[in-house]
Amino acid sequence: MKCFYHPDADAVGLCKHCSRGVCHECAAERAGGLACKGIHDDKVDQLSNLVERNMRVSARSGSVRLIAVIVYWGAALVCGYILTQETIIRMRLLLGVMAAIMLVAAIANTRILLSRRVGNSEKSQSKKMKAGEPS
Ligand SMILES: [Zn+2]
Ligand SMILES: [Zn+2]
Repeated sequence: MKCFYHPDADAVGLCKHCSRGVCHECAAERAGGLACKGIHDDKVDQLSNLVERNMRVSARSGSVRLIAVIVYWGAALVCGYILTQETIIRMRLLLGVMAAIMLVAAIANTRILLSRRVGNSEKSQSKKMKAGEPS
């Protein structure tokens, strides 16, 4: 395979963004893989950032799932306890437990939304910093 930019030169790999062959001279090694030097460096960086963020999000949703399992097991135990109590106390306790579960779920959702928003503002900040740099 030959370099897309130099038909005479052998390619050392493929650009992660456009999948064109790049020779030793044209290849820029980025964290996420090879890129067309000076052309697709940013694109490959964005791609690897995106993959990294997706992995982080899926790791977070895994821990949220664990919390949900703990909450439901706890709720099951509390419900079992409530069923041994007298009817009037039972109704009050049931309402209280349901309210507590809904509150925990709301807090968990809010945290996920907030952390996503923080991630977006980080991205726009780094863009501004790049624009301010003298080239
Ligand atoms: Zn080349
Ligand atoms: Zn490229």
